[in-house]
This record gives sequence, C-alpha cells and structure tokens, in this order.
Amino acid sequence: MDDVEQERLRSEIATLRLLLEVNEATALEQSRRAERALQTMQREITEREQQAKLIREIIAASTDSVVVLDSEWRVTFLNEQAKQELSSGEELVGQVLMEALPSVMDTNFMGYYRHAMKNRVTLLFEEFHAPRGKWYGVNVSPVGDGIGIFFHDATERRRRDAAIQKTEKLAAVGRLASSISHEINNPLESVVNLLYLIESSPGVDGETKMYAELATREMARVSHIVTQTLKFHRQSTHAAECKMSEVLESVVSLFQGRMATRKVRVKRRYEEHDELMCFAGDMRQVFANLIGNALDAIMGEGTIWLRTRRSRDWKTGRRGLRVCVADNGGGMSEETRKSLFEPFFTTKPATGTGLGLWVSEEIIRNHEGWVRVRSSERMGCSGTVFSVFFPVTD
Ligand code: ADP
Ligand code: MG
Repeated sequence: MDDVEQERLRSEIATLRLLLEVNEATALEQSRRAERALQTMQREITEREQQAKLIREIIAASTDSVVVLDSEWRVTFLNEQAKQELSSGEELVGQVLMEALPSVMDTNFMGYYRHAMKNRVTLLFEEFHAPRGKWYGVNVSPVGDGIGIFFHDATERRRRDAAIQKTEKLAAVGRLASSISHEINNPLESVVNLLYLIESSPGVDGETKMYAELATREMARVSHIVTQTLKFHRQSTHAAECKMSEVLESVVSLFQGRMATRKVRVKRRYEEHDELMCFAGDMRQVFANLIGNALDAIMGEGTIWLRTRRSRDWKTGRRGLRVCVADNGGGMSEETRKSLFEPFFTTKPATGTGLGLWVSEEIIRNHEGWVRVRSSERMGCSGTVFSVFFPVTD
C-alpha cells in the first residue's frame, strides 16, 4: 500500500468517524424528542382519565337517575340511582330499551324519547307512569349519537303542590264566607226586629203569632250560624282574655250538622274559670282541627269528650290550663303517631291536607304551650286523646 493510498484511507476513516458522531447525536436527539412526546401523551391520557372519572363521579352523585341509550336504543350506561329505580338486580346495560324497560314502551314517555332521538333536541316534561304509579320529571337530551334520559320521582312534590293549592282554596273560601256572613248580618238583624214587632203587635191573631215565633227561632239559628262563620275567620291582632269553654262551644256549633247526622255525642267537663290570654281566632283554628279530626276518626256512632282544667306543667311546675279533646274513634297506628305533626302527613287521601296538626302545633308553640297525644287501636277500647297545655301568666 503506497502512501497516497494510506492517506486516502485515513481521510476516509476520519470522515466516517465524523459521520458516525453526527449520526449518534441525531439519534440521541430523536430519542429525546420521542421521549418528550411520550410524556406529553401520557400526561394527556392521565388528564382525560381524571376528567372521565370526574364526570362519572358527578353523574353518580346526581340525585337524578341517568340512563344513556345509543342510536340503536341500546342501554350503554346507568347510574346508581337509575339502577335502584329501574332494575330489580339484573344487568340492563347492553339490553335494548324494549327488553330493559318494557313498561315504558306504550307510554307517552316513548313519544318524547323518539322525538329527542330523531330531531336531536332536548325535551323537559313531567309524566305519570301508570305501571309504577309515580310521576316523573324527565329531561331527555342528545348524548353522543343516542340520548341521555335524566329523571326523578316527582310524585311527592306534586302531592305537596296539590295540598298547598287546596289550603289556599280553603283560605279563599274562608275569606269569602267571612265577607258573606258579614253582609248577611245586617239585614238579618232587621228581619229579627220586624218579626218581634209582628209578634208583639196587639192586632195579631194567635196563629200568626205562633208562625212569627217559629220564624224568630229559625232566624236565631241562621244568625248563630252566620256569626259563627264570621267569628271563625276574623283574625284579631291583639291577644285577649277568652274562655276556652266558649271557644270549644263555638267550634262544636260549627260541626253540629255533621255530628247530628253521624250520631256523635259531645260530653263536656269544663272548669269554671278557664280564661286564657290568647288569640281567639288561632285557638278556634286549633280546636276546630282537633274536633274535626276526632269526628273523622269515629266510624258510625261515637263520643267526643271536651275538657278544660287548671293544672300544672309537671316538667316546669308552671301553672296553666289544660284542654283535652278525646274520641272513641279508631285510634291510630304507631307509624301515624310518629308523623302526626309533619306537614302534609295525612291518612285521608280524599279529604285531608295533612296541614291541620302541623299548623296547630305551631299555634300552640306560639302560645308557649305544648300538645301530647295518646292513642290506642285496641278493639273495643280504641280512641285518641289530644291534650293541650297553655301556661297562664299571673
Ligand atoms: P288531616 O286531618 O288533613 O289528615 P291533620 O294534620 O289534622 O291532617 O292530621 C294528620 C293525621 O293524623 C290524620 O290524617 C290522621 O291519620 C291522624 N289523626 C289526627 N287526629 C286523629 C284522631 N283523633 N284519631 C285518629 N287519627 C288521627
Ligand atoms: Mg285535620
């Protein structure tokens, strides 16, 4: 090998070494870049996973039930609420709606779902689901290429709304009754006076006089009814001293008609001095409710006992007045006794509002008093005693 050849080879080796070094550097750089890209990707994946977890948690925490259907009406997701509400344990995910929830197929719900699925719109509605006997509030929205159904049981809320409407109606009727009886009172008094004039005028024969007397008595009854309804709804703004026995009697006269047709007797035992500083209208409301409830509890014939008695609060030793309303009706279950004073609790689906005792307890508390209940459902000696205590300040 000559010198020239040697020199050429050496320079070639040097070049190759140089190339190798450059290559190495590039490879290193490329691998570093790849590593960085991988890290970014991993970070993104973690973030996505966290987001997905967050969304799952939000949906799980929602008080609404959530069901997601794909475009083929196949259930792809249910949250815990929906599982509890809809499934009896079997897995619904993967089933088509027809198999998963057959009871919804022939209902109005399907109309909304089809509309939302086809037109990709959100719909809000409330519907009664007859097979379950429940009202549902539903939001159906496009989710992915299918729909998401978000729903909750609206039965209780609707019942409450209805009860409030009913009490408002009753209050309106009360106001109307009050103004009507007010209007009737004046001409009524004139008629009573005129009848008196007829009765006592000297030229009148015996028969006419008897008719006039009968008419006067009937008018007295009308007058009594009118003043009772008028009194019933008049709200005074000042507490005043009133006899509890009189309050009870004015309430009893309101129920007289119902008591007579139902053959319910009233037995009284009143303290001579049963005066109390109170809002008479409020008291009438309390005892109208207690007596009304007693009357409702009596099937067929029965007795209502009314009692006023001076006594002491055994807990505090405070002097006061105790008023008892008792009946020998059907009594109530332990279940009922526990919920008695809750608003909207009623066992009378057709006629009850469930507000009577709730309001009554509030009124009694405003008078610094308390109310206690004893009740029995035992055959032959069933009945209920409501005992109300009001402190009397000297
Ligand atoms: P409402 O009379 O509208 O049902 P209330 O608050 O007055 O509402 O009473 C609540 C419930 O308490 C009644 O539905 C009934 O079940 C029960 N209750 C109240 N008083 C009596 C009673 N004297 N005897 C039996 N149950 C009673
Ligand atoms: Mg009641």
